[in-house]
Amino acid sequence: MPTARAYAAPSATEPLVPTTIERREPGPHEVLIAIKFAGICHSDIHTARGEWGAISYPIVTGHEIAGVVEAVGSEVTKYAVGDRVGVGCYVDSCRKCVNCLAGEEQYCLEGEIGTYNAIGRDGKPTAGGYSTHITVEEDYVLRIPDGLDLDVAAPLLCAGITLYSPLKTWEAGPGKQVAIVGMGGLGHMGVKIAHALGAEVSVISQSLKKQDDAFRLGADHYYASSDESTFEDLKGRFDLIVSTVSSDLDLDAYLGLLALDGTFVAAGLPENPMSFGPGSLVGFRRRLAGTKNGGIRQTQEMLDFCAEHGLGAEIEVIPAEKINEAWERVVASDVRYRFVIDTSTL
Ligand SMILES: [Zn+2]
Ligand SMILES: [Zn+2]
Repeated sequence: MPTARAYAAPSATEPLVPTTIERREPGPHEVLIAIKFAGICHSDIHTARGEWGAISYPIVTGHEIAGVVEAVGSEVTKYAVGDRVGVGCYVDSCRKCVNCLAGEEQYCLEGEIGTYNAIGRDGKPTAGGYSTHITVEEDYVLRIPDGLDLDVAAPLLCAGITLYSPLKTWEAGPGKQVAIVGMGGLGHMGVKIAHALGAEVSVISQSLKKQDDAFRLGADHYYASSDESTFEDLKGRFDLIVSTVSSDLDLDAYLGLLALDGTFVAAGLPENPMSFGPGSLVGFRRRLAGTKNGGIRQTQEMLDFCAEHGLGAEIEVIPAEKINEAWERVVASDVRYRFVIDTSTL
């Protein structure tokens, strides 16, 4: 049985520590992946700290995985040893519900099997990307095109697809006014992808600190949400607003920025319930929506799109010994724009 080096959280309050975990020998339809890079997503921290509900420990997080196929099961057809591959937020689903059949496995009616903090088909807890190896069903593995380096590709598996999916669903493109709210790990990928899709892109961020970065990544306009004139000046402007923030928002203020038939999409997950006045929607036939990562087919489409347009994440590669420090910096929004663990240091 392959043994992997890993970093695990022993409890909700203790720092992560080095450990080893067992991975499965690949079954007939599985591949064993040597993980090269793993992105650090804020979800890892929320989950490990029990902020999204009680979990069992120890937990190995990480769902932005990029690596190379090391071994394949006897009936694997899609991948061969040496292929560059990725794994995102889930590693399996029921495959037979209406949503799975539609290629929207992230909305599986039986619940998709998370890359971590879930029970796999083998009855054992799943463990994520802060490790040197992972065994995954080939149908839930993505191909990373040659044009993308593995380190900048890793964050695409969560941050990239989480923004690509709503931008495609609500048709960001030429002639469309798109706003990305929040300029962090998710938001910076939203700017790059929306720009590459041909939309006119605005960033709405707390302060003007990241303005230069936003313009460099493809934004056409930049506004500070702390400036009250922003919400006056932009009234009725946007066809699509994708919010990536997990802090509480004045929803009425943001809905007021939508044009006729405009859509506000929540991609971030604020902790508290949000409320809004129905008039904010009724006036201009506006819509309020939500989105969660993406299906396997669309995730592959996103990777191919990003390779074609030269879009990787903006990253800071760190060794394993810096993971705890990196988590603190993510919580403090002190990263431009994604930490990526070099798993050779685990
Ligand atoms: Zn994530
Ligand atoms: Zn399903």
